[in-house]
Amino acid sequence: MSIRLGIMGYGNLGRGVEVALQDAPDMELVAVFTRRDPSSVKILTENIPVVSVSEVENWKDKIDVMILCGGSATDLPEMTPQYAKMFTVVDSFDTHARIPEHFANVDAAAKAAGTIGVISCGWDPGMFSLMRVYANAILPDGKDYTFWGKGVSQGHSDAIRRIAGVKNAKQYTIPVDSALEAVRSGKNPELTTRQKHTRECFVVLEDGADAAKVEKEIKEMPNYFADYDTTVHFISEEELLTNHAGLAHGGFVFRTGKTGVNKEHNHVIEYSLKLDSNPEFTTSVLVCIARAAYRMRQEGQTGCKTILDIPPAYLSPVSGEELRAHML
Ligand code: NDP
Repeated sequence: MSIRLGIMGYGNLGRGVEVALQDAPDMELVAVFTRRDPSSVKILTENIPVVSVSEVENWKDKIDVMILCGGSATDLPEMTPQYAKMFTVVDSFDTHARIPEHFANVDAAAKAAGTIGVISCGWDPGMFSLMRVYANAILPDGKDYTFWGKGVSQGHSDAIRRIAGVKNAKQYTIPVDSALEAVRSGKNPELTTRQKHTRECFVVLEDGADAAKVEKEIKEMPNYFADYDTTVHFISEEELLTNHAGLAHGGFVFRTGKTGVNKEHNHVIEYSLKLDSNPEFTTSVLVCIARAAYRMRQEGQTGCKTILDIPPAYLSPVSGEELRAHML
């Protein structure tokens, strides 16, 4: 019997889950839920209902795992505890500083309801977190480095769009090659924020806006740009939509460490992702996690989990026997 999935929220990730399910023969999409008028939401799969969230409770016994595809800023802190009361849920919550608080809220809801809520899955947090934990456990005497990009940072793009005189904007985070090479060579460099990443902004101005003023405001914005070397390009709306509509992203997780009686041996662990589509990769992770969540629930587990709590074999559609024969 296939694992019955629901999608809650149909933006980039909602669509990405639908795409990822094409390659998951052990799972089936049962329904897509939206806060908008369902007739206005066009999905890819034929004969699958788009349902208003107001009716979600009627689907409690028809869905094994609900993948929550809302935004991290305001949707998921409310959605995940709310829907964990009805379903086993998976989310991609990526506000790192608020994960402990989100965990506590989801844990209480899921334990009370006898469900599982797996939070903060995707690539960062998600696969990068897993790699950091493996690498730290294996090389306790070492140093961690995470680089992001080249890719669009939604938060930084939003911050630029909020500046007066800006019509639209995209911001790319780019790792500095020399910093990557220094880490890769095992030199254990001390790197400042500025030395690790640069920021490149493509900005469309409102008519009559003062370009010099906008550029200054971007470059001096605390937390977002002030600590980075930032380049600002002013372009037309047409150019932005044609050349900067992509959703590529990626990054690197390194741990460099020493072993040996006199710490004479160096080791470098490197995990890298080069993603043509950030949402499609993220949802490929979410779908595997949904499979694992289902299996853990079948075993009687409840409460909030993260990717760190999931045995790797539970992610795979392949049997333990086959994994041992081909993957070990
Ligand atoms: P979107 O903005 O595309 O979608 C978020 C929600 O917006 C949807 O679920 C949808 O809900 C709602 N929405 C309202 N109007 C529209 C509209 N016209 N078109 C599309 N959606 C609409 O966000 P993403 O899917 O790109 O990302 C969701 C979150 O995933 C991000 O906030 C990010 O934090 C997180 N993320 C995490 C990653 C990780 O590695 N952990 C990686 C990438 C993203 P509804 O249908 O109910 O209206």
